[in-house]
Amino acid sequence: MSPNQSPATEERQSLQQQNPDAGVESAPVASPAQYTTSPVVEELDFSGEYDGDVPFGTPPSFIDRQRILPLLQKVEKPGRYTGGEFGVPHKDPESARGRIVFSYPDTYELGMSNEGLKILYDCVQRKDDLYADRTFLPWPDFRGLMKDEGLPLYSLDRPLEVRSFDVWAFNTAHELHYTNLLYALDLAGIPLRRKDRTGADPIIITGGTAVSNPLPLFDFLDGIFMGDGEDAIMEIMDIVSRGKEQGLSRKAILQELQSVEGLIRPDHYRATVHENGEAHYYGPMEAKRTYRAKEFAALENVIVPSIAITQDRVVVEVNRGCGQGCRFCHAGFWKRPVRNAEVSNLVRIAGDLLKRSGNDTITLHSLSIADYPWLEELVVEMAQAYGPEGVSLSLPSLRVQVKTIPVLEMTSGIRKSNVTFALEAGSELMRERIRKKSSEDNLHYLIREIYSRGWDLVKVYFMLGLPDRDGREVDDLIKSLNALGELAKECGPRKKVNVTVSLFVPKPFTTFQWEEQKGPEFFDESIEKIKAGLTTNRVHVRHPTPWMSWVEGLLSRSDHRVSYYLEKAFHAGASFDSWDDGFRQDVWEPVMAEVPDSIQQLWMGQKPGGTPMPFEEIVEGFPRDRLIKDFEKFESINEENMNPPHKQALKESDFPPELLKPVGIPAEKQSRAGFLKIGFSKTGNFVYISHLDTMDALRKALRRAGIPMTFTRGYNKHEKFHFGDSLPIYMHSEREVADVSVYSPVNPDEWFAKISEQLPEGLELKSLNFSENREKERKEKQSYTLKFFHSEDADRFEEMLKNPPESIQFEKKDRKRKRVRNLPRHKSAMRLHEKNLRTSLEELQRDANSLSFLLTLPESGGLSIVDLLDRYLEIPREDWNVRLQVWKTEN
Ligand code: SF4
Repeated sequence: MSPNQSPATEERQSLQQQNPDAGVESAPVASPAQYTTSPVVEELDFSGEYDGDVPFGTPPSFIDRQRILPLLQKVEKPGRYTGGEFGVPHKDPESARGRIVFSYPDTYELGMSNEGLKILYDCVQRKDDLYADRTFLPWPDFRGLMKDEGLPLYSLDRPLEVRSFDVWAFNTAHELHYTNLLYALDLAGIPLRRKDRTGADPIIITGGTAVSNPLPLFDFLDGIFMGDGEDAIMEIMDIVSRGKEQGLSRKAILQELQSVEGLIRPDHYRATVHENGEAHYYGPMEAKRTYRAKEFAALENVIVPSIAITQDRVVVEVNRGCGQGCRFCHAGFWKRPVRNAEVSNLVRIAGDLLKRSGNDTITLHSLSIADYPWLEELVVEMAQAYGPEGVSLSLPSLRVQVKTIPVLEMTSGIRKSNVTFALEAGSELMRERIRKKSSEDNLHYLIREIYSRGWDLVKVYFMLGLPDRDGREVDDLIKSLNALGELAKECGPRKKVNVTVSLFVPKPFTTFQWEEQKGPEFFDESIEKIKAGLTTNRVHVRHPTPWMSWVEGLLSRSDHRVSYYLEKAFHAGASFDSWDDGFRQDVWEPVMAEVPDSIQQLWMGQKPGGTPMPFEEIVEGFPRDRLIKDFEKFESINEENMNPPHKQALKESDFPPELLKPVGIPAEKQSRAGFLKIGFSKTGNFVYISHLDTMDALRKALRRAGIPMTFTRGYNKHEKFHFGDSLPIYMHSEREVADVSVYSPVNPDEWFAKISEQLPEGLELKSLNFSENREKERKEKQSYTLKFFHSEDADRFEEMLKNPPESIQFEKKDRKRKRVRNLPRHKSAMRLHEKNLRTSLEELQRDANSLSFLLTLPESGGLSIVDLLDRYLEIPREDWNVRLQVWKTEN
């Protein structure tokens, strides 16, 4: 093996020796001399043989829910895995021409917040003859159980084996998701490497900003898509569905997919590895695809998650692309050109999404919202249309501009959102060099204004490891942070600045693609120095672990040989690498140490500006002559010739100021005409949803139905809601109660059906009553039924409940009790309880395998159902819904 060869290369060579016919016949002829004079040490062919002429596809394979439910008792956040949310379209996977499952390679909460995925899912679902579904990554607790039980990864709308789909499409937004791609494939029972798949495996494709350099994923994925996928996903589904109907093989369908513009098919390429370590690629050049429309994300299929997700709000894509051209910013280069949606369309889309989801916040999604030419109009129209309904607006991080102040104020009428600025560097010279058009003076002016308008906290982002030609980066940053601290102190006793400092990662197709990736030692030393240099306590500095950026740096500009290290890290336990508590430095450190120095230098080291990069041989990303020109410009900037700080950024808005007034909730909606008492049952999937999430699901359902709910008058206004006792997760209930304050009388007969149709599966409306005064239900006793799955259990526990001891004693954490001095922390919150069981239990009855009884509640001297099961019957929660169902029944 040559020193430049990876073990994966060696493996591929041996495979090719076994199968000398493997090869791509149609790849264009190119000469290695085209790229380098260094002798070739290895020639590679990425084509796959697959399994010959076997027709592609498998019938849908349904998973019995009874295999899933028992596992949900044992995991954190079971609601991630139940599916059946409100808004899921009920389509038939068996009669569909083609089936696709979409994934974001991370948890449900992040996946369901991903806009790209929602858009593509909706595109496919709109077609009657296609079936789309979703799956996300189980957290390692659930993954371990799935592995133990032999349960493969399944989709959420209908529990289908992911492996039985035709296409599995990922949206990979971050290089640190690469190991998660392997995690997902492994859990689905699909070979990690492309060449090992057969006609029974789905075609695995990914798009997303993190694959602009497709080479690291060449060995794993069947297709890697560049750009906006709205049109391409339909072309892919059409080709795959048609291919299945014609009985084509996997290889033939992949061949046909070559016609999809923007889709790179790795098996269509060859490569040479050279003595100097470089790898070069031969095959078609693929240009990234651009979707142009007057609006984005006008979704017809809106799924409302049953649990809180990261972006629990309506997201309206104001524009795509960013024209600022910051030299370090991958999204800025990759997502060009700028395409602005029209104000009227955005307002209409937001209204529609609010109605379908029941959310009460709109996020105006944009890479650079301050550059949207009609920002004031948009904010005014949104606020006027939806502010009176209690809907607040939130903005992404802001550019330093005066015109953003009235916009911010306007958006704070209902709820105050966070204010975030990205300054990125500590000196004007560095900001000029990286082309970040913000100045420190302007930022200080803005922060002063923002503090004076009631905000106590602003967030500012910085980076370390930028191309620092003078070695002043850290000292400049310290000065900048101390100045921010002084400013906060001047503005008031409670004013603070939260600062996030992260390690810069040079990305493909940016001006800095030739720059060095600085390492964790540099970052650790710099952070130490920064902390030691801070003279203020008003600035709180946080930073992610630099090892995450170091690994991201490895993956960003590497080539196909990195697949070996990726796979090795995955097998050693790497996954969820973008999570602070998921990243495993103990795994990555030895793996990174295996990368030969010369290769590491090639992938992560400093290169002269203009050096050809291997991904440029495949992808037409951003014109390289413009990148080279920009790099030369960057190199030429110094203190003498730099522009003065961008005072012009402090541009006053010419929008009529009288229109930019915060819109509040009308006083009428903060009054009370009475209460609506809502009785509902909680069963099915919803027993896996926590009390807080259930309250939120009900609140959203009432918003969708249009119930005139009263809003609070507080700082962050919300609907007035009173729930009864919280129902433990995993317990069924025949009747839960919520009291909702309403500002106009509600006729229950008129509203019963409207509310019912807005409730998600698992919540069913049982009663609806309106009264002027709130009638509190104060119960001393509650009836329960234990529905055992086996008669032996029913016999045994009937005996125990028939003959309870006089009393039982148990220790329990008491959250209200203060810590007792001189006792260890874990002991101090414990309290001894003694409960009289004989008087607490009444009216025991048996019906088949069910035991029903009345239980005196803790407030009246009895004990809770959880304590009865846990402490006396010794039935742990893990057994609920596995050995028995626990029902709270109507008295
Ligand atoms: S303004 Fe933001 S999104 Fe636009 S190029 Fe600069 S950093 Fe990137």
